[in-house]
Amino acid sequence: MADKTIFQKIIDREIPASIEYEDEACLAFRDIAAQAPTHLLVIPKTPIIRIGEAEDSDAAVLGHLLLVARKMGNKFGPKGFRLVINNGPDGGEAVPHLHIHVLAGRKLEWPPG
Ligand code: IMP
Repeated sequence: MADKTIFQKIIDREIPASIEYEDEACLAFRDIAAQAPTHLLVIPKTPIIRIGEAEDSDAAVLGHLLLVARKMGNKFGPKGFRLVINNGPDGGEAVPHLHIHVLAGRKLEWPPG
């Protein structure tokens, strides 16, 4: 069996995380290397490796993740927020467990690097 990802270890409570939201399907916790005053990661508890490998049957969980990201964005970024999904090596993905970055709390620049 493949080694657990760091995010699976957070779900399984094997390593600590600063959790801001949890329900039966997902978890939102603070990124360990925050790029903004609020930088959360919203992840599904049943792993999807990356958005590029999501299936049509994942539609409900994908919609749920977006709604939770919206909730976190509205809570922590009343003046605005950004949602990001990195996919694959050129997309900057480091952890192969789907996650939506929620960035808020400062004026964000565009375009990203
Ligand atoms: P990616 O580059 O889109 O795959 O994002 C992975 C994110 O996970 C990065 O922003 C990391 O800082 C973050 N990260 C890695 N390990 C941990 C951890 O143990 N706790 C919280 N965030 C983590």
